Amino acid sequence: MNFLEERIQKDGIVKEENVLKVDSFLNHQMDISLFRQIGEEFKRRFADVPINKILTIEASGIGIACIVAEYFDVPVVFAKKSKSINIEGEMYVAEIESFTHKCKNQVIVSRKFLNPEDHVLIIDDFLANGCALQGLISIIGQAGATVEGIGIVIEKGFQSGGRIIRNLGYHLESLAIIEDMNADTGKIVFREQ
Ligand code: 5GP
Repeated sequence: MNFLEERIQKDGIVKEENVLKVDSFLNHQMDISLFRQIGEEFKRRFADVPINKILTIEASGIGIACIVAEYFDVPVVFAKKSKSINIEGEMYVAEIESFTHKCKNQVIVSRKFLNPEDHVLIIDDFLANGCALQGLISIIGQAGATVEGIGIVIEKGFQSGGRIIRNLGYHLESLAIIEDMNADTGKIVFREQ
């Protein structure tokens, strides 16, 4: 088991409806020394990739992306969840269905912060059905920028997102992939990587 799988096994709580709670170290209280290990590992996995920007989505991706960015020495842009109507022309916009909140959000990124010269690493905490990633990929496409890679902290491998994104040909690295988890027993099984 890697450092992250060990931590998930120790402190992760399996909830109903395929939700894993990792509030004590990732999503609410944040363990920054763990985040540094995550940053180091992404830097190792994307060592030869030319990356000049990291893109994530608010809220829980931001903290992780900022620490990861230290290892790449690049700025972080986060897609903002927005209820207001896009001011035509100023923003890239994508519609994302939230897995945890079961609602649709418009997310926006200002045109000022993504352009065709950008080589982007997408970072997020979880991958479930892949909606968040598809929205971020769409925004990068609108900007004419390049998706150089996608770094996910926890992929739920029994949901469809990982397969969809890999089939689209993206370089996706997930630090822990959960093959199966059970809310009754609390058992979590990881995919061998
Ligand atoms: P997707 O768009 O891939 O269906 O879901 C990814 C997003 O939903 C992530 O950005 C994450 O915030 C949230 N998410 C999905 N599954 C889980 C989960 O099991 N636990 C937590 N804490 N968040 C999740």
